[in-house]
Amino acid sequence: MDEEARLRRQLETDLRHAILRRQLRLDYQPLVRTADGELSGYEALLRWDHPERGAVGPDDFIPIAEETGAIITIGEWVLREACREAARWPDHLQVAVNVSPVQFQVATLADLVASALSESGLDPSRLELEITESALLKERASTVATLHRIKALGVSVVMDDFGTGYSSLSNLQSFPFDKIKIDRSFIASMEDDAAARSIVRAIVGIGRSLDLPIVAEGVETEAQRRLVLEEGCANAQGFFFGRPGRVALPRVLPGIRFG
Ligand code: C2E
Ligand code: MG
Ligand code: MG
Ligand code: MG
Repeated sequence: MDEEARLRRQLETDLRHAILRRQLRLDYQPLVRTADGELSGYEALLRWDHPERGAVGPDDFIPIAEETGAIITIGEWVLREACREAARWPDHLQVAVNVSPVQFQVATLADLVASALSESGLDPSRLELEITESALLKERASTVATLHRIKALGVSVVMDDFGTGYSSLSNLQSFPFDKIKIDRSFIASMEDDAAARSIVRAIVGIGRSLDLPIVAEGVETEAQRRLVLEEGCANAQGFFFGRPGRVALPRVLPGIRFG
C-alpha cells in the first residue's frame, strides 16, 4: 500500500472513534446583515482535533466519512450538538447546520431533526439546514418529500454553495428552498472579474423573483462587502465579519443569571 492509501485507512479508523473520544467539536461563524454587520446567527462548522495530526478540516475528512458511512453518526451528533448550543443563545439568533447528501439517503432524517429540536428545546424557526446541490442529484422524489417534512417542522432549508457543481435552475423550482447562499468563489473574483459580478447579479435577480433571500459567502474585505451590497445581497458571511470560532455568550441571558 502506498503512503497515501495507508494514511487514508488510518483516518477512516480514527474517525470511527472520534465522537466517543470527544475529538469533534463545532466552531460557529457569524451570519450577518450586509448593510451594517448586524448579527443574525451562526453557521456550525465541524472541526476534528486529531491527537497526532492536529486540527483536520472538514474538506479533508467529510468525504471519507461520507464514503464509509460514518457521516450518519457524525451528522447526528452535529445536529444535536448545534441545537443544544444554540438553545442557550439569545432568542433572535439562528443556527445553520450543514447536512450531507448521504444523510438524505436515510429515511429518518426528518425524525432526527424533530428529535434534536425537542431534546434541545430550540424553537424550530431558529434552525436552518444547509444543503449542497449534490444532495439533490439522487432520489429526487424522496429528497423533496424529506425537505417538505423538515419544513413542516418549522425549519428552513438553504441551498448552499449555489452556482458551483451541478447547478441547475430547475433545482430551485423543484425543491422548496427558503434561501440561497452564493458560493464564495464568485465573491472572491467579483472585484476584478466582470463575469463573476454578472453571475452574482443574476443569482440575486433569480432570488428576487422567487422571493428567496440571498447570502453572499466568503466576504473577506470591505470592498467585497460594498460590492455584494450594491448587487443586492442583503445577507453575508465571511472572514471580514468574523472567522469561525467560539460563540461569546453574554454573561446575562434573559431570565438566567450567571455568577
Ligand atoms: P460551507 O458550508 O460552504 O462553509 C463555509 C466554508 O467557507 C467554511 O469552511 C468556512 O470556514 C469558509 N469560509 C467562510 N468565510 C470565508 C472567507 O471569507 N474566506 C474563505 N477563504 N473561506 C471562508 P470549512 O469550515 O473548512 O468547511 C468546509 C465545508 O465543509 C463546508 O462548506 C461544508 O460543506 C463542510 N462542512 C463543515 N461542517 C460540516 C458538517 O457539520 N457537516 C457536513 N456534512 N459538512 C460540513
Ligand atoms: Mg454551509
Ligand atoms: Mg457554503
Ligand atoms: Mg462550501
